Amino acid sequence: MTTEHTNAGVAAQTPLRVAIIGGSLGGLMAALALRRAGFDVHVYERSRTTLQDRGAGLRVQQDLRNRLLGVDIDVDASTNTRSSDRFRFVGADNRIVYEERTQITYSSWMRLYDMLLGAVERERYHLDANVARLEPIDGGTRVHFSDGAPVDVDLVVAADGQSSGVREWLVPGSGPRYAGYVCWRGVVQEGELSREAREMLDGDGLYILPEGSHMSIYPIPQKSGGIAYAIVWYRPVSEPELPQLLVDKDGKQRDWSVPAGWLSPRVTEMLHSYARDELPAVAREVVLRTAQPFIQVIVDVETPRMVRGRVCVIGDAAFSGRPHLGAGTAKAADDAWTLAEALSNIGRGEVDAALARWEEARLALGRRYIALNRELGNALVAGRVPPERFTSRPSWEMLLENR
Ligand SMILES: Cc1cc2nc3c(=O)[nH]c(=O)nc-3n(C[C@H](O)[C@H](O)[C@H](O)COP(=O)(O)OP(=O)(O)OC[C@H]3O[C@@H](n4cnc5c(N)ncnc54)[C@H](O)[C@@H]3O)c2cc1C
Repeated sequence: MTTEHTNAGVAAQTPLRVAIIGGSLGGLMAALALRRAGFDVHVYERSRTTLQDRGAGLRVQQDLRNRLLGVDIDVDASTNTRSSDRFRFVGADNRIVYEERTQITYSSWMRLYDMLLGAVERERYHLDANVARLEPIDGGTRVHFSDGAPVDVDLVVAADGQSSGVREWLVPGSGPRYAGYVCWRGVVQEGELSREAREMLDGDGLYILPEGSHMSIYPIPQKSGGIAYAIVWYRPVSEPELPQLLVDKDGKQRDWSVPAGWLSPRVTEMLHSYARDELPAVAREVVLRTAQPFIQVIVDVETPRMVRGRVCVIGDAAFSGRPHLGAGTAKAADDAWTLAEALSNIGRGEVDAALARWEEARLALGRRYIALNRELGNALVAGRVPPERFTSRPSWEMLLENR
């Protein structure tokens, strides 16, 4: 246990009992940070089984890596991590038009989830635990589940994602707002690509800036040691046209995404025809060879409040920005660790004041995070960020330095 993370004040009495709602990356990181600070923590995840691979790669920010090292998780020691020192831009003629020297660490969502889950005691991670309702009680909160007995805790930390029910309870009507574009996504194994495409990708990321859209291809290191490539292609869609993209292959209308394997043949064909018309050869091939593309609506989620009594929200539940800074997981980690720090070395009578101070600082950072992602996303999709200006684009590091 590190000295800055002890809750000597509170622990001298009895450790704070904390219920974390949501057992994805944000919830697990909160569990690790708060356990390290000495609290009595349980995670409640509604999924019946441990979470499944979302087929996503993840850019690992330096501060996230450092936070995890503090709880003995070394992302770099994983065979699922790959470091790259360049980012390249491909022009319409399929040639590299610009190369930027920058250190990027790639891992996969699944690998990070596995590592975090492995670090949390099994008896503290509860599956099939859907939180249905929160009830304020004297000095804490009663957590009610869809099934089973309620639990009384001193603090609830909600990491229940961008459609958070807890945020809606805190601030009704604070749900996701459409950003004006969607993200077409998918994963293709390296072995399924032509030699030309493999040589061009070369295990690194590529940026493509077609007219009116923005795409990146980046490596997802595989457990086996090989590489897969993920595509994220941000393309504007007018609001009236959006619902028809979100009708899945069974004719069901979805809200914010159609997962892998569920796109209708009509929507898959739309993607393929955009790729044929708009992308340079390497990107076109990656899209056309992606077996199960999926679609995610890009939204802004912004809460004016993160704390109510003994309930707080973190991660995507609080602020879920457009993904251009590649820092959603790093922000969730920062929310978790700053919360643990705020609650450490204080007496029980000081918890509410500590939460208020934490909230003020996190709201300021969250607003800035949303604004920077929005600014960057709008500029990228509108083609206002030529490759040579990428070096000076906003970054998560800049946000942390100026907090
Ligand atoms: C296109 C895209 C690319 C991205 N790329 C990156 C990247 O490169 N780097 C990066 O750092 N981040 C990236 N992110 C963001 C990242 O995925 C998230 O910001 C981060 O994982 C934090 O998520 P979370 O744990 O807060 O929420 P989620 O992962 O959404 O988890 C919420 C959990 O809460 C559970 N839950 C919900 N309601 C209840 C309930 N009532 N009771 C119990 N459980 C409940 C859900 O089942 C779920 O498991 C990207 C996001 C997108 C959309």
